[in-house]
Amino acid sequence: MEQVDVPIKAVIFDIGATLVTGPDVAPNKVIAAIIRGATASEIGEVIMTTELESPKHVCRLLEERFGEIDGNASGEIFDLWHAQRTAPVEIAGATDTVLALKSRRLKVGLLSDIWSPYYRGVERALPRVIEAADAIVLSCRTGCRKPSPDNFLMALDELGVRPEETVMVGDTYSHDIQPAIELGMRTVWVLARPDREAESIMRILNGKCPAPSVTVGSIAEVASCKF
Ligand SMILES: [Mg+2]
Repeated sequence: MEQVDVPIKAVIFDIGATLVTGPDVAPNKVIAAIIRGATASEIGEVIMTTELESPKHVCRLLEERFGEIDGNASGEIFDLWHAQRTAPVEIAGATDTVLALKSRRLKVGLLSDIWSPYYRGVERALPRVIEAADAIVLSCRTGCRKPSPDNFLMALDELGVRPEETVMVGDTYSHDIQPAIELGMRTVWVLARPDREAESIMRILNGKCPAPSVTVGSIAEVASCKF
């Protein structure tokens, strides 16, 4: 394809399960089990798309949408907030990979569907990545979530690059890779959790979805990829 000849100017990374690992159960699912009467998806719509200042702020927003929250539930949400702030752990090689690409004069973007306390944990877990990033686009700041192209376009705009000059690196085909391919970006699929991606793998193998430019088993392999 002709785009292979276009020089790469930027690399955009997903964060969760691409650069950091965290708890197995997502916070919207934890809250859905705490407050009842709301689905995890409805809770995700609230907590992932608003910049949250405190657990009190979370409770207030949830009450506005789903009704009163009792004292026990507030306490559990408070605990969840604080656990999430220390939960993210760097995946081996993540910082080195980002800095290696940066040292090749590539711009670096971060693009994540994330809620506020977990992002604070990411700032602690990956301080040099945050410092190196030329653009950071988060669902809790923009109000948009993947797979919508909106945040991808915002990241490209902030980096000042065109899609064909950019590589998207992520672990989730439907949210990171497919939307990037549709915009004309190159893609590196970090297939660190192939069990979770079985459906996408089958669709690609059956020719129903486009294959990523490159697939690797870990973030540590990305710096030596030929995009
Ligand atoms: Mg991810």
